[in-house]
Amino acid sequence: MTAWMKINGKTVFSGGKSAFDAAAREAENCLFFSEDCEDELVCDDAVSCYNCRYRRWTADSFECMKR
Ligand code: SF4
Repeated sequence: MTAWMKINGKTVFSGGKSAFDAAAREAENCLFFSEDCEDELVCDDAVSCYNCRYRRWTADSFECMKR
């Protein structure tokens, strides 16, 4: 299963907001991961898309601005 889907030209994480293992795996394999500011960190994984400054939250998930 791919972790990403295209919606209206945006690349959206298909795991939603609580797929912590998948979000960590994607970030570990991403050259662009950059930790967001402390106020924006949402999970305990040091490296996770959920904590990346290039994610933009949507109603159900997030969009990656680098993919
Ligand atoms: S949100 Fe995008 S840029 Fe950030 S780690 Fe995940 S895939 Fe990479």
